[in-house]
Formats: sequence, structure tokens, C-alpha cells
Amino acid sequence: MELLDTLVAKGLRRESPTREEALAVLASSDDDLLEVVAAAGKVRRHWFGRRVKLNYLVNLKSGLCPEDCSYCSQRLGSKADILKYTWLKPDEASQAAAAGVAGGAKRVCLVASGRGPTDRDIDRVSKTIEAIKGQNQDVEVCACLGLLSDGQAERLRAAGADAYNHNLNTSEATYGNITTTHTYADRVETLQQAQAAGLSACSGLIAGMGESDEDLVDVALALRALDTDSVPVNFLIPFEGTPLAKEWNLSPQRCLRILATVRFVCPDVEVRIAGGREVHLRSMQPLALQLANSIFLGDYLTSEGQAGRADLDMIADAGFEVEGAGSTTLPEHRVAAAAPSGCGSSGNGSCAPCGDGASADGDPVPSRARTDLVSVRRRGAGTELAPNA
Ligand code: SF4
Repeated sequence: MELLDTLVAKGLRRESPTREEALAVLASSDDDLLEVVAAAGKVRRHWFGRRVKLNYLVNLKSGLCPEDCSYCSQRLGSKADILKYTWLKPDEASQAAAAGVAGGAKRVCLVASGRGPTDRDIDRVSKTIEAIKGQNQDVEVCACLGLLSDGQAERLRAAGADAYNHNLNTSEATYGNITTTHTYADRVETLQQAQAAGLSACSGLIAGMGESDEDLVDVALALRALDTDSVPVNFLIPFEGTPLAKEWNLSPQRCLRILATVRFVCPDVEVRIAGGREVHLRSMQPLALQLANSIFLGDYLTSEGQAGRADLDMIADAGFEVEGAGSTTLPEHRVAAAAPSGCGSSGNGSCAPCGDGASADGDPVPSRARTDLVSVRRRGAGTELAPNA
């Protein structure tokens, strides 16, 4: 396909595809899928080699959120049977983080449900960051606490945070259909506050919420324009008890096309497969490593992932290697422009890798809902059981 040659050449030059080119990737047929993956894989390997960065989630505070994000199991009025607990103590959180680091994670993502942190919450998280860094100075810490108020990003940076995650999730045009308690502009503002404070910005999207191809391309282009260092791509996990529970629209092929599109639009940034990887890519997960250079190890915020050991085996079997603490995630030109710590990747969705799955113009719709694949997290942070890492 001539289009793919053009997109590879652009990716190697860090040039953006046009909106029409990105739309054409999403609209390509299953017959062309391997060619699409091979082309986007060239861009991935050019900037990130065969390295896979592992990230580990710690849900500091789970459930009971006053916001109404439709995709989220922690939202206002959610009937999802998830774990609900208030702030983990710094030593509890650092213990949970240590399990992920021992499993190979290079970044720990500290997430809390809620609209945004109070100054007291920033104190707690600062102590948690200090506890984690005290155990392992090299570990990158990303905070994901919702909308920030003035001065809070600077305080997190001073406490040692490397990055801040706040997902755009979907296009500006459709944001109001997904959430009514805050706006797309609020999210952009928080990301810009984080960047201004010297934090590496992590922001991504959720596919599978009923959005169009145009929405997906628009949000990918918006993330590029914001110059985020990492882009988590969530695939909606349709939790029972949330408004999007019936949205089972993604196929593994669709997920691969979405990841390829994001790679072409954001060629030199960390593209991370986030929530919904196991649920929607299923046995095609290893192929997705040709496109993304980062995944979460183990469990997600409120759902369980495959065993951490299985993640590591998958990476090795696919011919990739876990990125070690000694190597830098981002290409040199981005590190020079990034946060003082030189970190370069990060977490996941809004407040989390709550994934979801979307409809797609012309895409095959999965024949049945795979609710058997959605397991609420019952281990790790907030429980007495060992974490999955
Ligand atoms: S995504 Fe975050 S802000 Fe939205 S409902 Fe979930 S926890 Fe609350």
C-alpha cells in the first residue's frame, strides 16, 4: 500500500499523518492488517527498538467518585461490584509498588479516584512518592489524581514525581456525551499545568465508547498537539453497573488498527496498551507489541489483568525485551526537551485504565459480549491478598 510507505517515511521523520491518512488506516480491511502492523512496527522499532516498558498501577483510593465518567466503574452511581476504599497509607502504597518493581516495572502509577486532590491529598501522595523513591531511587513515579489546582503540580514535582497522567479519553466534540461533571478543556488545562511544572505529561484515550473513526483520529491528533510524552490506549472494559456496560464493539483487529493509527500519529512517544488489553486483544496481544512499546504489568485499577508472569512470557516469546532501569524510554530528542528527571512514559486513563470498546465504521462487530473476561480486582492494594506482579 502506497499509503503505508508514506506513513512510515513520515513516522521516521516525526511528521504527522494528515487526518485523511489516519482515517484511512482505521478504515483499512482485515486483508491489509498484517501490512498495517508491519508498517507501524517499523516506526515503533525505529524509535524504541524491541524494548517494552512495564508500568505498575497502584490504586491509592478506589471508588466513590463524585464525577460521572460513563466508562468508569468508580463513577458516581456505579453499581459495579468493585473494591471501595479510601487512601492507602504511604507504607501500604510503597509495599504495593515494590511488588510491581520486583516484577520488572520501571514506572509506578499512583492513581486516586475523585475530581481532583485537596492540598491534604497532595501531602499524602507526596509522602507516598517519597516512600517509593526511598526504596528505589530509579523508579519513575507518575501521579494520576484528577484535575489539579494551582500549585499542586509544582508540589508533586518537588516531592519527586516524574510524570502526571490525565487522559483526554475522546474527542472534544464527543466529550460531553461521556462526562458531564467536567469538561475536555478542564482536562487540557490540568495537562498543561503538569507540563509547566516540569512533569512529563501522560495522556491517552479510551476506544470503544461508541465513538467514530473521526473521534479517534481527532483525539490522537490532539494528544500529538499537546506534545505528551506517553499515550496510553485503553480499550473499554464494559463493566456491569456502568452506562457503557453493553458496549461490546471492539474486535482484536480493530484494536490493532487503533494502535497502528496512534503509532503513526505519535511516532516517537511512548504508546502504552492500557486497560482492556486482555479483554479485547485476547490471543492477538503479542502482535500488539509490534505497535506499542509499553504495557501495564499485572492488574488494573478495578479489574484483573493476566498474571504478571504471563506478561513477561508474552514479551519474551514475541522476541521483545523488558526495558531495564538503565535505558531511557524516550528517544534522545524528546528526553532533552522533557522533565528534568528525563522520564518518559506513563500511566493510564483519566483516573485509570478503565478501558472500553468502541463501535467502528465498517469494522466487524464481535458476535458476543465476553463478560467472562471481565474480573473485578479482588487482590493487591486495598486487600489482604498479594498483588499480581
Ligand atoms: S475516571 Fe476518574 S474522575 Fe471519572 S468517574 Fe472515574 S475515578 Fe472519577
